[in-house]
Amino acid sequence: MSTRRTFLVAGAATAAGVAAVPGPATAAAPDRDLQRILREIDPARIEAIVRKLVSFGTRHTLSSQDDPIRGIGAARDWIFAELQRHAAASDGRMTVEQQSFIQPVSPRVPAPTRITNVIATLRGSVTPERIYVVTGHYDSRVTDVMDAVKDAPGADDDASGVAVIMELARVLATRRPESTLVFAAVAGEEQGLYGSDHMAQQYKDAGADIQAMFSNDIVGTGNAHDGTRNDPRTVRLFVEGVPTSETAAEANTRKSTGGENDGPSRQLGRFVKDVEPDGTNVRVIWRRDRYLRGSDHISFLLRGYPAARFTEPRENFAHEHQDVRVENGIQYGDLPEFCDFGYIARVARVNAAALWSLSQAPGTPKGVVIDTTQLTNETTLRWQPGTEPDLAGYEVVWRETTASDWQHSLAVGKVGTVTVDLSKDNVFFGVRAIDSSGHRSPVAAPRPSS
Ligand SMILES: [Zn+2]
Repeated sequence: MSTRRTFLVAGAATAAGVAAVPGPATAAAPDRDLQRILREIDPARIEAIVRKLVSFGTRHTLSSQDDPIRGIGAARDWIFAELQRHAAASDGRMTVEQQSFIQPVSPRVPAPTRITNVIATLRGSVTPERIYVVTGHYDSRVTDVMDAVKDAPGADDDASGVAVIMELARVLATRRPESTLVFAAVAGEEQGLYGSDHMAQQYKDAGADIQAMFSNDIVGTGNAHDGTRNDPRTVRLFVEGVPTSETAAEANTRKSTGGENDGPSRQLGRFVKDVEPDGTNVRVIWRRDRYLRGSDHISFLLRGYPAARFTEPRENFAHEHQDVRVENGIQYGDLPEFCDFGYIARVARVNAAALWSLSQAPGTPKGVVIDTTQLTNETTLRWQPGTEPDLAGYEVVWRETTASDWQHSLAVGKVGTVTVDLSKDNVFFGVRAIDSSGHRSPVAAPRPSS
């Protein structure tokens, strides 16, 4: 577990009506259920999934939808059958669907084309209305993004991500997460994020309460095969700063008093880092994505959902979006021989720790505001009390405005408001919920009350 340094200053804080004992800003160690889940994630099964997906020749979005052997339709049907098999072990809690729509003509789609997401939903046992989504994209491409014919093995991009969500679905189908977990193989990513765009819009239209979404895209190896050091424990997590969905009013507040490092996706990044399993290193990158690149998390960010993207530590661009060929003695192409299945299993464990911890913890506090009705040198925070049956209370967290991560926390009990004797002008505040087992929610940053 990562251990957070805590800087305690005696008497730095008092909270109205509660004992003012600042505690560590550290998340709990993995509970026994999570430890078992992490152990069950199997590199051999992940390898079998990647090789099977590669065996369909191409999974290009414009390739055959009804050839039983080659093309994206065969891959779709196989993923669907596998997820249904996992769902059979779930005692009815997991359902699997093919979410299809017709993508109209667009720059990378020359004729109306059916795109299908394969989605396994594991219904939460306590708060099913709260949803956490994880995706990989099963479509693939070669050098010419319009070429649906050539072999496009897409082992790293993104059979690796699909293997993550399928292995998670298998292991978690037998569990009873408190909140709903969604494991999705989306398509149309390389043509313009179309599958995830449709999926996110469906959720938005239904008013779904998605509190986190993760795209696993290019999570195949810590070895760039370019002579640099293998980095088999590190996975990058890209989290945006200023929210993609920021409104003009929110921008005005931010320009005045800051908050560019406190959007919901940044809080999600801090949470994932807090619960990273032993033997893994989540390198959080404060960007929406890499230069010139994007992934399916953007579809969710556009709808205002907290979202982030996992990707390997250093890419080899000869192995992505390339025709399979040898040129000047260099092997090009996205081949399974460049994948490290133990690495993909580690990434799956990082995802499992994040999803399980999110699901078992209370939801992110809602309606968190900082009272700005008058000028004072103290801080009053208010929020909507949650309704989870095992909710134990709340913690107020804060940090210096120049610090990247929370430095102090204060347990304030099961309340909906607290006043802290610290100036809101001098530090950044947040609020998180904690349950009776010690599971903490992600932090919510306050908005001004007026
Ligand atoms: Zn990709």
